[in-house]
Amino acid sequence: MKYGRSYNFSAGPAMMPEPVLEEIAAEMMNYRGSGMCVMEMSHRSKVFQQIRDEAEADLRKLMGIPPEYKVLFVQGGGTLQFAMVPMNLMKNGTACYVETGAWSKKAIAEAKKYGDVRIVASSADRNYSYIPDCSDLEIPEDADYVYICENETINGTTYSTLPDTKGKILVADQSSMFLSRPCDVSKYGLIWAGVQKNVGPAGMAVVIIREDLLRDDLDPKTPVYMNYKTHADADSLYNTPNCWAIYCCGKVFKYLLDRGGLEAQARRNEEKAAVLYDFLDQSRFFTGAVRKEDRSLMNVPFVTPSKEQDADVVAASKAAGFDNLKGHKSVGGLRASIYNAMPKEGVEALVAFLKKYEAEHA
Ligand SMILES: *Cc1c(COP(=O)(O)O)cnc(C)c1O
Repeated sequence: MKYGRSYNFSAGPAMMPEPVLEEIAAEMMNYRGSGMCVMEMSHRSKVFQQIRDEAEADLRKLMGIPPEYKVLFVQGGGTLQFAMVPMNLMKNGTACYVETGAWSKKAIAEAKKYGDVRIVASSADRNYSYIPDCSDLEIPEDADYVYICENETINGTTYSTLPDTKGKILVADQSSMFLSRPCDVSKYGLIWAGVQKNVGPAGMAVVIIREDLLRDDLDPKTPVYMNYKTHADADSLYNTPNCWAIYCCGKVFKYLLDRGGLEAQARRNEEKAAVLYDFLDQSRFFTGAVRKEDRSLMNVPFVTPSKEQDADVVAASKAAGFDNLKGHKSVGGLRASIYNAMPKEGVEALVAFLKKYEAEHA
């Protein structure tokens, strides 16, 4: 790694591609002859408008977003979306949620404030270590949508097949898997992602919403900022947006396009994750915490035989120059988040470290 940077396995904010950071650094003091940094720019200026428009156009190209979907850049990170989704989409007042871990639980708790929440499937019985069968869910006639967290960042699970929503709108939190593999947007009514996991700096979410779901008949007490239509009508420039995050995300969109798009990124992610999973599968000391079919390519939780040894490996990994490998307290053990920007060499170096630890301690 250049610049003395470390392999940062944090679940978020997470690593950014080094060439993108270098480009940002080069443009820091004077963005392309504008005489200012993007941080100092009016969001109403032509030069910023171009940054915003290109970011949207590149994301559309990258994901193949159909024209009947709007792309929104909304502040408030991921957490605000837990409220915005029910505020905007609960028309009949009933929604179905699949409970797969920490982030779907937060979404459920927030949605309960706005209506009747039906938990139609759950993996709580085995500490959220798998994705429940969603092929025949009991979905009430009047349900407004079916909500999933498509990649549970803390628990390390991901869907290999999307739920059968029986014709209802599918809503997905893609925060920790956004742009990690190709995505057929037409299968969803709404996709949202907090960007600090796989794309850019914290504090913003990308929302992709089918146009017909935008409404102007929300509860009149709904804050203007919380209506998706406000952002759709104003090209996400209703108020001062997170200009800096839009700029950085735009750079990452271009970077991914230049490197062959999402198919190519998915292949890189599969190869990279295989390095770690292949090691875990043959190890007698470290054990993966997730059912094989459901494991995430982005977040890999694993444990040693005891809590004491977990803590010892975390401390030793830190001393060896690996950052943020401590697992979340609800799962324990260790967690390596290996998002798009984590180089394969980073995972190989981690596996070499874990092998050596096992040889010396097991
Ligand atoms: C991180 C994360 C969130 C919350 O994002 P914030 O920007 O911290 O509010 C929501 N969902 C998932 C899946 C996440 O990984």
